[in-house]
Amino acid sequence: MQKLNFYFYFFLTCFCYNQASTQTSEVLLPIYLSQIDTQSIKSHLEFLSHDWLEGRESGEKGQFIAGLYLKSQLQALGYEPIFQDSVHQKSFFQHFTFGKINPRKSFNVAGILKGTELAHEYIVLSAHYDHLGLGKNGVYNGADDNASGTSTLLEIARIFAKLKKEGYPPKRSIIFLFFSAEEKGLLGSEFFTDNPPVNLQNIITNLNVDMVGRVDEKHQKIQEKNYVYIIGSNFISDDLHELNEKINREYVNIALDYSYNSKIDKLRLYYRSDHYNFAKNNIPVIFYFSGLHDDYHQVTDTSDKIMYDKTLKIAQLIFGNAFYLAYNNIILRKKKEMD
Ligand SMILES: [Zn+2]
Repeated sequence: MQKLNFYFYFFLTCFCYNQASTQTSEVLLPIYLSQIDTQSIKSHLEFLSHDWLEGRESGEKGQFIAGLYLKSQLQALGYEPIFQDSVHQKSFFQHFTFGKINPRKSFNVAGILKGTELAHEYIVLSAHYDHLGLGKNGVYNGADDNASGTSTLLEIARIFAKLKKEGYPPKRSIIFLFFSAEEKGLLGSEFFTDNPPVNLQNIITNLNVDMVGRVDEKHQKIQEKNYVYIIGSNFISDDLHELNEKINREYVNIALDYSYNSKIDKLRLYYRSDHYNFAKNNIPVIFYFSGLHDDYHQVTDTSDKIMYDKTLKIAQLIFGNAFYLAYNNIILRKKKEMD
C-alpha cells in the first residue's frame, strides 16, 4: 500500500507539473490581462502631459523631469537598469547628444525584468516620451503624442512586475524602453539600435506604441472607437502577425485596421515612429497607433480628450502579445528576404 501510494503520487506530480508548464501561460494570461487598470494609465498620462512639464521637448527641463519620472516608476516596480554610464555603473539612462548646429543632451530610459531560462532573449516594448515643448501658442502637452503610449507601457510594466512578484517570472527578459528625441527624427531609437546594450539579434520583437488615445476622423464617421491600426506586423515575420491576430481574437476583440500597413502608403507611417529603427535591423515589429486627428502636433493635444477605454483595449492587446512571447518558447520565424 505504501509503495503504491508513493508511485501514485510520483506520477500525479509529474502529470501535474507537465500540465502546469504547458498550460500556465494560457491560464495566467486572461487573469493578469484583466488587471490592467484605466485609472493608472490616466494618472501617468495626466502627469506627463501637464503644463508643468512644458511639452517635454528633448534636451529641455520637462523632458528631464519626465525621464526621471519613468526611471522612478521602473525602479519602484523592481526593474533593473540595462545601460552603463561613463564610469561603468549600471544606469536606467542612455545619454546621447543630438543636433549638429546646436548640440543638445538627452537620454532614453529603460528597465529590464530578467527572464529565467531564456534570459538572453528580449521582448522590447517601446514608446517615445518626448514631445514638441513650448511654442508661441503655448504648451504642446502631447497627451496623445505620446503620453498615451508611455502611460500604457508603464501600466503594462506594473502587471509584469506583479506576475513576477506572485511567483510567475517570464522565461524571456522583458525590456521597457522609453525614447527621447523621436520628434527630432527618431534620434533616440536610432542611437539605441546603433549602441545597443544587448545583442540586437537576441531581440525577439519590438512592440512600439505611439498615439493610442484618440479616435480619427475615419472611425468617428463610422462610430467605431474600439480599433487600432496595426502597422508592420507581417513585414518581417508572419508568425508575429498571426500571434497578434490570435491574441486579439481570443482575449481582446478590438478591430484591427490594416489601412496603413504598407511601405508605399502616402503617409509613410511605417517609417515615422521608433519601431522602424528595429525593423531596419530585421527585428519583427508591430507599431500600435490609433490615427491622426486635428489636435496632432497642436497645443490642443490635451489629456481631457483621451479616450481611456480604447487605450485600455490596446494595452490589453500589447500585454497579451508580450506575455505570450515572454512566457513561451515559441520562435517567430523571419521571412528569408527583406523586401
Ligand atoms: Zn509626434
